[in-house]
Amino acid sequence: VSRYHAWSYTPAVPDPVWQIRRPQRAIPRPAQPNLRGMTREELAEWLRRELAAPRFRADQIFTWLHQHRADAFAEMTNLSKADRATLVERASLARLTVDTVARASDGTRKLRLRTSEGEAIESVLIPNDERGLTQCISSQIGCALDCRFCATASLGFRRNLDTWEIVDQVARARELLADESKREGAQWTPRITNIVYMGMGEPLHNFNQVRRSISILTDEAGEAIAGRRITVSTSGLVPAIERFAREGLGLEVGLAISLNATTDAVRDEVMPINRRWNIATLLAAVREVPTSRRRRVPFAFGLRHEVNDSEADAHRLVRLLREFRCHVNVIPFNPHPHAPYQRPSDRRVEAFVATLRRAGLPCWLRTPRGDDIQAACGQLAADAG
Ligand code: SF4
Repeated sequence: VSRYHAWSYTPAVPDPVWQIRRPQRAIPRPAQPNLRGMTREELAEWLRRELAAPRFRADQIFTWLHQHRADAFAEMTNLSKADRATLVERASLARLTVDTVARASDGTRKLRLRTSEGEAIESVLIPNDERGLTQCISSQIGCALDCRFCATASLGFRRNLDTWEIVDQVARARELLADESKREGAQWTPRITNIVYMGMGEPLHNFNQVRRSISILTDEAGEAIAGRRITVSTSGLVPAIERFAREGLGLEVGLAISLNATTDAVRDEVMPINRRWNIATLLAAVREVPTSRRRRVPFAFGLRHEVNDSEADAHRLVRLLREFRCHVNVIPFNPHPHAPYQRPSDRRVEAFVATLRRAGLPCWLRTPRGDDIQAACGQLAADAG
């Protein structure tokens, strides 16, 4: 387990109430490492060892992979033939394959991608206010945390995604958009301006691969996505939030908290992780995450009919979050066959949001995007089979 799951929470005393499920499988690690999953530093070190190559060679290869999206070493024309031949023998450039692309009436697209062993990963492109797209990417196949509202949870926890499998979701999406624009004769290709780690899986439960993927996606020699445009979402894995804080990641990217309840009794039911780290412990950990002054901590609050949509819930939410520099994303529940909840009435939603606003708690009402193709929040993997 430790080789692929280098970071995991192991309680000193076995927790009788709740434990994180182990993955069913390890990340496949073929003999030839996949260069797409290395940061520029790691690539330089690997090339020095394998080819005695100078530092600038790593810059060249990194750019081929993450800017030009090269599929083969043969495309890397500024490398010598001998180096290319050695790389073919010693390294892999494996990629995800695009299986299906579903389109919703609101312009949202859901990509189903396949790993080398044929597992399905879902990634969603959502049009945003900047006339670009926000990509919601996955970090695991299935998930170890059993949130009751979530379709991904119904898959169980198959495995963590490797770094290259996280990064390649973005590269494949960009290629898809470029192909579409070409086919349609469009003058410009829509840009992916924001990345959110809110697809399948709990990103902080796959900390090492997620951290490395952030380094790759933000690298100026590659995709060069600004860290302020990247958000990692967590259901409340407190030891990982503490590590996030210790490593200063909050100054690089945003951390969103999936809260969804205002009492431990309800959160225990909706998100079993709360039985291990309750609301007070979670908020105490979030308080310690150093963040950029310009950034507010987003709290996601999925509204469920007669579960957490009362006036009393709205007032409790205000009290819980009053001291945070934050905003609340209120998301009326997206019904799907895997969850026993219903969407609240529009009147109830409006009243909830109005109470937060009257109390001065910044909040956005998020309309579900792509729910006609099961691409909305909590619906991923419903048909990933
Ligand atoms: S909501 Fe997120 S953390 Fe919870 S089960 Fe689904 S994917 Fe996992």
